[in-house]
Amino acid sequence: VLKFDHVVKRFGDRTILDGVSTTVQAGEIVCFIGPSGTGKSTLLRCVNGLETIEGGNILFEGKAVQAKQRSIIDVRRRIGMIFQHFNLYPHLTALENVMLAPVVVHGEDRKTVEERARGLFEKVRLSHRINAYPAQMSGGEQQRVAIARALATNPHILLFDEPTSALDPETVGEVLAVMRDLAVEGRTMLVVTHEIRFAADVGTRMVFLDGGKIVEEGNPREMLAAPKSERAKRFLSTIS
Ligand code: ATP
Ligand code: MG
Repeated sequence: VLKFDHVVKRFGDRTILDGVSTTVQAGEIVCFIGPSGTGKSTLLRCVNGLETIEGGNILFEGKAVQAKQRSIIDVRRRIGMIFQHFNLYPHLTALENVMLAPVVVHGEDRKTVEERARGLFEKVRLSHRINAYPAQMSGGEQQRVAIARALATNPHILLFDEPTSALDPETVGEVLAVMRDLAVEGRTMLVVTHEIRFAADVGTRMVFLDGGKIVEEGNPREMLAAPKSERAKRFLSTIS
């Protein structure tokens, strides 16, 4: 479904991603871990075209995401992203946030979209907050709106960049619960996270990035119990 083929990303003369290769199959929940500044966010941003790559290829359903004949709008419709800081539009209600892309960007019928959006609010357990503005919601609620917004275009893949690390401890669980539901539905998810419990319970694979390279990848539980590389061992001992 999604293939990283020797992906190279540079900012100026710094190489941030240094030949990343891995393949994500449909239904996989791949958890990315690694020290700060190793390119985890950059990797996700390259997938849906928020960054361009300088070398290698990212293939989505067999076609490069960066191909000239491919529209970035279409890529983003089918690959949804959820950010650490929610990035909701502050002047729009929760419902309007969710409806915006399908209606304005993709020109779908408003009634159809609203019906779908209401279903998504049920899924993220927020039907009672549909008319609230972001500033009136807790972090956990805002993040669940952001998940509903990402789902609104019926994406094939969801990218999560540290979705719970800006949240108060008491709202982390409600966001992880929604992500668990999505995993059970068989969604394909790439998740950058320090939530080791989530990775162990829900992840189908764990990828340890360091210095712009995949140092180690494998079954999350096996990797947590017995990391093969010294670097992964050292990193895991600092966070768990
Ligand atoms: P963290 O765990 O702190 O979120 P990360 O693994 O997500 O870190 P990235 O945000 O991908 O790391 O950043 C990787 C490197 O690229 C960092 O050194 C960062 O400073 C640099 N970088 C990121 N975005 C840009 C940019 N737009 N211009 C220049 N350098 C950037
Ligand atoms: Mg990051």
